[in-house]
Amino acid sequence: MQTEPRAAAAVHDAPPGSAARARRTVPASVLTALVLGSLVTALLSVQTYRLETEKSNSQFARRAELRIRLFEHSVRRAVEQLQNVNRLFATSRVPISEAQFHEVAGPLLVQQSFIRSFVFHRYVMPAERARFEAAMRDAHPGFTISEVRDGKLQPTSTPGPWLVVQYYEPLPGNESVLGYDAWSNPQLRQATESAIDSGQPRASAPRQSVLSSRQRGVEGKVFAVLMPLYRRGEALDTAAARRQALIGESMAGFHANTFARQVFDHAGLLNTPDTHINIYAAAAPDEAALVMRYGAAPPRAPALAGLLSPAATVSTAKTFDFAGTPWLIVVSRERHGLLADHGSALIVLGAGFALTLLSAAYLRVAAARARLIEATVKMRTAQLQLTSSELQLRNSAIEASANAIFITSAHAPAYCVEYVNPAFTRITGYAAQEIIGQPFGLLDGADVHQPGLAQLRQAMAARRQAHTTVRSYCKDGSMYWNDINVAPVRDDDGQVRHFVHVNYDVTETRRYQEQLEIRANFDPLTGLANRNLLQDRVQQAICYASRLQREVWVAFIDLDRFKFVNDSAGHRYGDALLKMVGERIDAVVRAADTVGRLGGDEFVVVLPQYEVNPMTVAVIEQVLARMAAPFQIEEKEFFVSCSIGISVFPHDGKGSETLLMHADRAMYRAKEMGGNNYQFFSAELNTRSAAQLRIEGALRHALARQELLLHYQPQVDLASGAIVGAEALLRWQHPELGMVMPGDFIGLAEQTGLIVPIGAWVLRSACRQGAAWERAGMGKLRVAVNLSSIQFSQHDIAQTVAEALAESGLDPRCLEIELTEGIVMQNVERTISTLHQLKGLGVQISLDDFGTGYSSLAYLKRFPIDVIKIDQSFVRDIANDPDDALIVISIITLAHKLRLKVIAEGVETAAQLAFLRDNDCDEIQGYYFSKPLPAPAIGAMLAQGKRL
Ligand code: C2E
Ligand code: MG
Ligand code: MG
Repeated sequence: MQTEPRAAAAVHDAPPGSAARARRTVPASVLTALVLGSLVTALLSVQTYRLETEKSNSQFARRAELRIRLFEHSVRRAVEQLQNVNRLFATSRVPISEAQFHEVAGPLLVQQSFIRSFVFHRYVMPAERARFEAAMRDAHPGFTISEVRDGKLQPTSTPGPWLVVQYYEPLPGNESVLGYDAWSNPQLRQATESAIDSGQPRASAPRQSVLSSRQRGVEGKVFAVLMPLYRRGEALDTAAARRQALIGESMAGFHANTFARQVFDHAGLLNTPDTHINIYAAAAPDEAALVMRYGAAPPRAPALAGLLSPAATVSTAKTFDFAGTPWLIVVSRERHGLLADHGSALIVLGAGFALTLLSAAYLRVAAARARLIEATVKMRTAQLQLTSSELQLRNSAIEASANAIFITSAHAPAYCVEYVNPAFTRITGYAAQEIIGQPFGLLDGADVHQPGLAQLRQAMAARRQAHTTVRSYCKDGSMYWNDINVAPVRDDDGQVRHFVHVNYDVTETRRYQEQLEIRANFDPLTGLANRNLLQDRVQQAICYASRLQREVWVAFIDLDRFKFVNDSAGHRYGDALLKMVGERIDAVVRAADTVGRLGGDEFVVVLPQYEVNPMTVAVIEQVLARMAAPFQIEEKEFFVSCSIGISVFPHDGKGSETLLMHADRAMYRAKEMGGNNYQFFSAELNTRSAAQLRIEGALRHALARQELLLHYQPQVDLASGAIVGAEALLRWQHPELGMVMPGDFIGLAEQTGLIVPIGAWVLRSACRQGAAWERAGMGKLRVAVNLSSIQFSQHDIAQTVAEALAESGLDPRCLEIELTEGIVMQNVERTISTLHQLKGLGVQISLDDFGTGYSSLAYLKRFPIDVIKIDQSFVRDIANDPDDALIVISIITLAHKLRLKVIAEGVETAAQLAFLRDNDCDEIQGYYFSKPLPAPAIGAMLAQGKRL
C-alpha cells in the first residue's frame, strides 16, 4: 500500500531529461541484442544443420555398409559351398556314379533354393566318344553328344573335345539336356575356359532364363558358377597342365534375383523401406545387367551439395568379385524434405529468433527494473554471507557435537582416519594425533567377525551410505555399543574421496533394552520365566518332541495355603516365600527344564522328554515332597503344600495355550481332591501313572523280596558247534503280574536309580553261577552280563566288578561285560579310561546291539573291545534282505580286520545260521539254538554236551 505512492514520487523526483535519455538508450541496446541474437542464431542453425547431416550420413553409411558386407559375405559363402561339393568329386578315387551325384546334388538344391540346377560336365576327347556314348546309353537310351543348331538340339558336328552334360539335377523333365556340349554354348564357353585355366570358380554373365519363361526381367535372370575338376595327383601349376589334367567341371545354375533377395531377407534387411538396394552383374549400374532391385533405382546425379553443410550422402556403391565376374551393389536412400532431416536446425532457427526478440523485449524492461536488480544483488550478497557463516557454523557444530564424528579416506581396505572431532577423543580415548592416519578398523579391536562390520565394509566398498550397530573398543580396551552412520562424500566430479562417520555410543540404550527384554521374559520377583517365555519354551519343546515323537509334560503348580501366609504375615513374607518356592522347584527339575511363574502363587514347569525311556512322575513327586518341608523365613516357619496339574503333549493338546489350559484344569482337580497331590489332565494318564507308581514301589522291594532272577541264553561257537558262553538276562517274578521282562522295568529302574543295586546283584549272581558251572566240571564257560549306562557311569563300577569276581572266585577271563553303543559314545574320554580299568581286571568287553547306534567300527578302534554283538534287527532279515546281508558281511569283515570276535544275536532260523556260517561269523545266540533258560536248564544242556 505504501510502496506505490513512493514509487510514483520517485518518478516525479527524477531530474528532467532522464526519461528521454532512458528512451534513447533502450533502442541502442535492443538493436545490439537483435543483431547479435540473429547472428548467433544463424551460426547455431548452420552448425546444427551440419551435425544433423553428418549424423544422418553416418547412420546411412552404417546401413549401407551392413548390406554391402552381408552380400559380399554371402556371395563368398555360396561359392565356397559349391567348391566344397566339387571337392567331393575331386577327392573320390573312383569316378562318381550318377546315383552318387544325385545323392549329393539333390539335397543341395533343396537347401539352397536359389540354386536352380546342378550339373556335371564330362570332358570327352574324340577318341573316347564312342565308348562314352555307349556307356551312357545303358542308363539313357539314345544318348548322344549334342549341340544347338537351328534352334534345336542335334548330334554334335563340332570336332571334340567336348564338355558334355553327364549328370543333371533335377533330372526329371530335363533329360534332353544330357549329352549337351557346354562348350558349344558361347555364353558358357568364356567362363568355362577361364575356370579351367585358372583352376578357380568362375561365374558366367547373367542372362534371361529360357526355361522359366514365366519370369521376365530381373526375376528371370540366371547365371552359372563353374568349377573345374582335375585328375587326382597331377601337377596343376600352369594353364596347359590344368587342361591336360581336366576331367570335367561342375556347374551350379543360380537364380540371381532369388539369391540376392534371400540374402537380405534372411537377415531381415528387406523391410527397411527407406533403404534401396540395386545389384548389377556388372561393374557399372547398367539396367541390362540388373539382377536385383529392392526399392527404387539409385539416384542418377550426386546429391545437391548444400552451401553451408556437407552434402547429404544418398547412395553408396561397391564393386566386388563374384567368382571372377565384377558385380556392383548400390545402396541408396530417399531424400527427405528439409523438415524431416533437419528438424533440429529449423527449431534452433525459430527458437533463436524468438529468443532474440524476447531478449530485446527483456532488455527494455530490464532498464526499468535496474533498481530492483540492485536490491536483489544486495539480498544475494547477504545470502552468500549467510552461507559462509553457515559453513562456519557447521564446522563448529561438528566440533561441538556430542557424538563422535570422524572422516576417513575412501581407500579400501584401510580407510585411514583423516579427521576426528573432540567427542571422538572423549568417547574412545584416542587423541586426534594417535588415530589420524590409522585404519578406522582400529576401533573393532580383536572383535572383527561381527556381521555389522561386514555390512559396513560392503557398503563402503560400494560407495553407499550405511547404518549399523557394532561393538567397538576404546583405547583402554573397554567395549561400547556403537551405532554407526557412514556416508560417502562426493567431490564436484562425483568421485567419492572420503567417508563421514557419525558414531553414537548407545551402550546405555542397549542396557536398557536388555533390561526391558528381561522384564518382558522374566518374572521380576523370582527371576523365573514369565508367561511370555514359558509359552515360548513350551512351543520349542513341542517342536523338538514332535520331530522325535516324544512327550512334553506341562506341570501347573499352585500353592495350597498361600493366601493364608499373605494375609496373616504380610506381603513381605509372601514374596520371600514365593522366591523360595521357585528355588525349590528349580532345584528339583533337570537343568534343561523350564520353571516359570505365571503370577500370584502359580508356577509352571515344562518337562520335555529327553530320552527314549518313558517319562515318570518321579520329578512331580519330588516337587510335592520338597514343598512339604517347612519354609523358614526369618523367625517364622511356614507350612505350605501344592497341587499340581499335568498335561501331556501330544496326548492333551498340540499347542502351548491348550497345554497350559489343560494343566490348569488338572490342577483344579488336584485341589478338589484336597490338595498336596497331582493329577493328569486325562484320566487314562492318571491310571497309567498310578500303575507306574505301583510298579516302582514294588520294584523297590523286589530285590529284598528276592523276586529277581537270572535266565541264561547259550552262546554257541560256529566252528565247533559247542556252547562257549551264556548271557545273563534279568527277570522279575512279580507276585501278581507274573514274569516281568527286562524291557518293562529296566527303564524304570534306571530312572529311579534302582538299577545300581539291581545291577550289582546281577553281576554277583552271574559270577557266582559261572564259578558254580566251572566247579561242576562244565568247563570254562564265559558269562556275559549287561551293564546299564547308569551303572557304567558310577565311579566305582570297576570296583563293583572286581568285588563280584573276588567274591565268586570266577576267572576274570570268563566274565564278559556287555555295553551298548550309546554307553560307549556318551563321554568318550571317560569311557576309554573306565574300559581300561575293566580290562585291567582281565574281563572281556563286548559291544551289544551293534549297528543300532551311530558309531563306526573304525571309530571304535579307539576302545579296548573284544567282541561285537550284531543286533537282532540285522540278523532277522539277512536271508532275504540284501541290504541287511551286506551290512552283516561288512560288519564281520571289518570286525575281523580289527581282530574282534563277532556274535550274531537273535538267530532264529537255519537259513540265518547258514548265512552267518558262510560269512565267517564266530558265534551265535538265539532261539534257534535255545531261548534264555533258568540256570539249571543250562546246566543240564552243558552236561548233555548239546551242540549246534
Ligand atoms: P540284549 O542284551 O540284546 O539281550 C538279548 C535279548 O534278545 C534278550 O531279551 C533275549 O531274550 C532276546 N533274544 C535272544 N535270542 C532271541 C531270538 O532268537 N529272537 C528274539 N526275538 N529275541 C531273542 P530280554 O531278555 O527281554 O532282554 C532285553 C534287554 O534287556 C537286553 O537286550 C538287555 O539290553 C536288557 N537286559 C537284560 N538283562 C539285563 C541286566 O541284567 N541288566 C541290564 N542293564 N540290562 C539287561
Ligand atoms: Mg545283551
Ligand atoms: Mg543285544
